[in-house]
Amino acid sequence: MGEGGRTRMRVLKGIPASAGIAIGKGYFLNRTLPRSVKSTIGREKVEEEVAAFQRALGRSKEQIRSIRDSVADSTAEHHQILSVHLALLEDSTLMEQTVRMIRENQFTADWAFNRVLQSLLETFHRIEDPYLRERGHDLRQIGHRVLENLAGRPLDSVASIKDPVIIVAHDLSPADTAQILKSPVQGFATDVGSRTSHTAITARSLGIPAVVGVERITEEYGTSETVIVDGEEGVVVLDPTEEAIREYGEKRKAFAQRTRDLAKFARLPTVTRDGKTLSLLANIEFPEEADVALRSGAYGVGLYRTEFLFLNRKDLPSEEEHFDTYRRVAEKFVRHTVTIRTFDLGGDKFASQLELADEMNPAMGLRAIRFCLREKDIFKAQIRAVLRASTFGKVRLMFPMISGVSELRAAMAVVEEARSELRRKRVPFDKEMSIGIMVEIPSAAMVADLLARETDFFSIGTNDLIQYALAIDRVNEHVSYLYEPLNPAILRLVRRIVEAGHDEGIPVSMCGEMAGEPLYSYVLLGLGLDELSMNATSIPRVKRILRKSVAHEAKEFAGSLLQHSTAAEIERVLRKKMEDLFPDERF
Ligand code: PEP
Ligand code: MG
Repeated sequence: MGEGGRTRMRVLKGIPASAGIAIGKGYFLNRTLPRSVKSTIGREKVEEEVAAFQRALGRSKEQIRSIRDSVADSTAEHHQILSVHLALLEDSTLMEQTVRMIRENQFTADWAFNRVLQSLLETFHRIEDPYLRERGHDLRQIGHRVLENLAGRPLDSVASIKDPVIIVAHDLSPADTAQILKSPVQGFATDVGSRTSHTAITARSLGIPAVVGVERITEEYGTSETVIVDGEEGVVVLDPTEEAIREYGEKRKAFAQRTRDLAKFARLPTVTRDGKTLSLLANIEFPEEADVALRSGAYGVGLYRTEFLFLNRKDLPSEEEHFDTYRRVAEKFVRHTVTIRTFDLGGDKFASQLELADEMNPAMGLRAIRFCLREKDIFKAQIRAVLRASTFGKVRLMFPMISGVSELRAAMAVVEEARSELRRKRVPFDKEMSIGIMVEIPSAAMVADLLARETDFFSIGTNDLIQYALAIDRVNEHVSYLYEPLNPAILRLVRRIVEAGHDEGIPVSMCGEMAGEPLYSYVLLGLGLDELSMNATSIPRVKRILRKSVAHEAKEFAGSLLQHSTAAEIERVLRKKMEDLFPDERF
């Protein structure tokens, strides 16, 4: 309740990060970067200031190390992210540049550090890949900690929360989310973040409702008492009325029931009513996501984006490190396929330790397979690691951004070199390991028949395929309205790729975001895809729809959809069909 009577209810919209409803007492966690003002010190104070900065840095490292060490094995993802934070703090650039600024400009430590931090943050901000851009938040979070330590202020800690509350914060650091695991926190809402931010990823793996990117939540929060977080709709309600509390209470019950119902599907096979079996697999970025994938009923990993191994570090990952990581994932799935995609680096995907050119048109620049074919040693080390891991499970190798046969052959030649090197050293590997390609460039779709003769499987990357086929920059919000998975051109391309694959007897998968969208499940079944790979949490819903479908009817329907001329028309017909066929589902 605010001053002078009841406070008005406020409803704010953000990005749904983790499904579920939480209703409870709000808890404001101050996580904004403390403001610094430009100030200087006398020359005689410079070394004192340098020492104070180094102490604050040392203290921050100690704190993160101790939080990391308190994290049990089961939360290994946190462990890894906290190690990334430590590595950032240990990065000599941050430290050296700050010390240089204090010495050369006689700046106070907090102003010097702030300047260095801001310039690094700008670099991160320019990165177009939303996932990688998010890594800038890691920097901001450690920056916050260092500045608070510099000011000698104790950091408000999640560990001290003893009551079931809903956290409202500008952002949460991995140190915070690691502590949420052991706290009674019921949900959270933050100003910043996207679906691919660490906070969102961990909220999903912890299974607590969360809304991120609310923008004004900390501003609006004020003295609010009760907070509702609706992680499905991406809505946060501050000071709800009694009626709203009742309404969301009902919604919470319904959600719990739906989750129980869906859990039953995790163990069931994905078989349509007329007996067609599909494999539903998970897309992962961290090896630790394997557990959630298994719990959600994933039949393996359809896309492991290995770029993560390159992030936020000074050195290149060694072959051993690749091998250990891949082996860990392969062993988790034992009999199920794990598809390891070689690095999709370069262009909009960022790796701090590689000298990548600043390109005008990064999506069409030196990225992915093109980059790997140029940096052959890095590429070959990864391939050797994948080959070695292949004896520990059912591993597949996949190349991104293949534009045609010559590129595929060039990549296969590197595989051959890697194989001979291993043979020479008598290192075992699976000689039959499946090697496939992502079909995500229109030229590859056009020559899919030729490619199918020389590869073991296709996986359609709709995120890029739509971008290139429709000439829509996938990270440009001004043209996002044109980013249409149901565009007849896209559906035709998908059909063409599936048919070309099947004519040569190879399986065709889809691993772009389109694969995990329940509205499209029936069409994708109808277009004949053999596998769909998606965010693990989408698996039970897609599975339920497919188990209620009849494959030959879906095929006929997909054929009729292709007669329509525009995406809008197709969507209208599809929605109507889905609502008729699956009245209990929500699209
Ligand atoms: C795609 O392009 O659809 C895909 C799955 O790969 P990424 O999103 O990593 O480019
Ligand atoms: Mg792609």
